Amino acid sequence: MRIVADTVRCEGHGLCADTAPEVYDLDDEALVVLLHDPVPAELERKAEAGARVCPVAALRVEA
Ligand code: SF4
Repeated sequence: MRIVADTVRCEGHGLCADTAPEVYDLDDEALVVLLHDPVPAELERKAEAGARVCPVAALRVEA
C-alpha cells in the first residue's frame, strides 16, 4: 500500500502525524512527509487512520 500526499493541499495541521507518527511527519515548512513508501503491512491501518483525519483530504490511499 502507498500513500500519496498532496503537498499543495496540505495546510500543516499535523493531525495525520498526531494520529500515526510512525507513518507521517512534518517538515520545517509544516508540510507532510511520508516516512515509508510503500507503507509496510504492519502500519497500513495506522496510515489509513492518519489519512482519514486530514481536514483538507491531502492524503490518498492507493492499494
Ligand atoms: S493532516 Fe492533512 S493538512 Fe494536516 S499535515 Fe497531515 S496532510 Fe497536511
